[in-house]
Amino acid sequence: MTDRLRLVIDAAPSAMIVVNGAGQVVVANSEAERSFGYTHDELLALRVEDLIPSRFRGHHDAKREAYFVHPDRRGMGVGRELFGLRKDGTEMPVEIGLNPIEIDDERFVLASIIDITERLRGQAAENAARDDVLRRSILDTIPFCIIATDAQGQVVTANPAAESLLGYRQEELVGRSITEIDAVERARYSDGTPALSRVDGDEGEWTYRHKDGRTIPVCEAIVPLEGDGGFILVSYDIAHRIEARERVEHMATHDGLTNLPNRSLLLRHLDHAFEAVGEAQGQVALLLLDLDHFKRVNDSLGHHIGDELLVVIAERLLMCVRNDDMVARLGGDEFVVVMHDLDPGADLDQRLDELLKAVVVPVVVHGYELAVTVSIGATLYPADGDDPASLLKHADIAMYAAKSTGRNRVRWFEHRMLDDNNGKLSLSAALRQAIDQDELSLAYQPQVDLASGLVVGVEALARWNSPSLGPVPPDQFIPVAEDGGMIAELGDWALRTACTALAQVQAELGRPLRLAVNVSPRQLRGEAWLSEIADALEASGLEPKQLEVEITEGILIEDHGDVVAMLDSLRSLGVSIVVDDFGCGYSSLAYLTKFPIDKIKIDRSFVQEITSPHDEAAIVDAIIVMAHALGMAVVAEGVETEIQETYLRERGCDEVQGYRYSPGVPVADVVRIAQQVGCS
Ligand code: C2E
Ligand code: CA
Ligand code: CA
Repeated sequence: MTDRLRLVIDAAPSAMIVVNGAGQVVVANSEAERSFGYTHDELLALRVEDLIPSRFRGHHDAKREAYFVHPDRRGMGVGRELFGLRKDGTEMPVEIGLNPIEIDDERFVLASIIDITERLRGQAAENAARDDVLRRSILDTIPFCIIATDAQGQVVTANPAAESLLGYRQEELVGRSITEIDAVERARYSDGTPALSRVDGDEGEWTYRHKDGRTIPVCEAIVPLEGDGGFILVSYDIAHRIEARERVEHMATHDGLTNLPNRSLLLRHLDHAFEAVGEAQGQVALLLLDLDHFKRVNDSLGHHIGDELLVVIAERLLMCVRNDDMVARLGGDEFVVVMHDLDPGADLDQRLDELLKAVVVPVVVHGYELAVTVSIGATLYPADGDDPASLLKHADIAMYAAKSTGRNRVRWFEHRMLDDNNGKLSLSAALRQAIDQDELSLAYQPQVDLASGLVVGVEALARWNSPSLGPVPPDQFIPVAEDGGMIAELGDWALRTACTALAQVQAELGRPLRLAVNVSPRQLRGEAWLSEIADALEASGLEPKQLEVEITEGILIEDHGDVVAMLDSLRSLGVSIVVDDFGCGYSSLAYLTKFPIDKIKIDRSFVQEITSPHDEAAIVDAIIVMAHALGMAVVAEGVETEIQETYLRERGCDEVQGYRYSPGVPVADVVRIAQQVGCS
């Protein structure tokens, strides 16, 4: 080893050692002595591995041997952890540079070792500073509102998200108590400081107040700060989430069409209402409303019209009730009105009258003027039932009573209705049986030609004399048949029976008569019905031109062309088409020109308005004039008096029908009546 090398090494500012091929330290400078804490002699007695923590030794051994075979200059420890082992057993982070040297044909390695403890300390400080900046910028950009408070709940600092959420500038927030930002009172400790007790970091819903006064629903987590007793409040705006939750809740409790509360909300509401009454000794009225003949509107005009009608009715009901009353929709055309705070002497009947009147005002939907009425079943809590379910059931029974006594009226529940009801519930079942067991019959009401004074035809009207229920009027059982899917069967039966009967009657009478049969809108669906008519005509031997089919005008307004096609094929068979109950429905006469119609039947409500010879029945006049102008014949139904007959004759009405001539009679009486009845 040259002395010059030794001199250079000694003068070097960093620790340097030279190691031979066996790993023995052969030269070490004073800086190496200082760094590792050995004397010069001690160092020279060491192997290089002794200067390395034991956990790295095995690895180093292998490396060193390889290095002596292929030496090169090399830096170690830059950018990764490398440690030196001091004599006192402590470690120091180092960077090492290795240089192979050859002296007198022997290979050595010169290692320069730099203790980088200080450098790393500086880096750590730098890193910490960088971390601080990072943390700061996270706080500045994070979309969560972050507020730090001291132990008393006074704001120490807040991030920009807090500023924009709450509407305060940072400096306005600092020093403010968190309770000034709260819109809800926080619990406080006895010393008055707010109990920021939700300190487990769990989120909870909370409400802040914006600087402008509005409340802000938030989700808030409170985390205690280590050391000084302060807190960090992390929160975010959950207005959208709450809105969505409320939307779902609303959808689950309201009817989508009318936006009225649905059955489930109604039941909940009734529970509360009854509870409140229990304490106050008052009463609650529960009204069940069912629109009359709503199905006809739906069937004949289509659901979109029916839906709009329901919306209008819902609005009207809302107009009729007081603020804390409730209007709910049970589904279909059923509504419930709940009236609270009724004084014992409250004039409920007057309020119910107003309801009826409000509903009946005609509604214009898509150009159709619709007038619906409503039947109301009325009950009082607690007299008529002491829980929502039984009160509703009783209101339902009362409502059916209102329907069966003529509709468009209110019936209060009476306990004796419970007995009646057991029978009525099974009306549908009884009707089904009646059809099977031939309890139905037909009555025939003559139609008189005003010019000749002769009976020229009959209308077949269904009759049901039930052994258990007594006579049930068709206004009651026809809708039941329509709803119960029995109308096609009933209609076919009526058609065949009437055709057969008429063939017999005219054979006896010695001249032909016309036969009018009523057809429900639901029968007009499908081709089967057409062939049913052709069959019935053929079986009875009647001429098609003798048959008149009475339809209601609502059928015509239905959008699809099916109806027109059906009526066209009927007509091409030779059958006539009569529009029944004309004038009380939805259409104008001009509208009817689009359809193949032979005759208009003026509804009996118009005829009934003619009570004195000087009356002006403008609608009757208009119908007759326009029908004739359109090439249609006119028949008036419900004619009961001579005054009515005279009026109609003077206006040129073609035919009349009504109790003035005869009610509907059994087939056995038709011939006799046809010979006697007439007008002059
Ligand atoms: P509609 O077709 O308008 O029948 C005329 C109704 O007026 C009949 O009532 C008849 O008895 C009654 N009426 C006749 N003359 C007078 C009168 O001078 N004054 C008064 N106040 N009323 C009179 P009904 O028989 O109770 O029939 C009621 C409704 O039931 C019928 O009204 C018709 O819409 C329906 N209907 C009857 N039979 C059938 C049927 O076989 N099939 C279908 N689909 N419906 C039927
Ligand atoms: Ca009729
Ligand atoms: Ca009629």
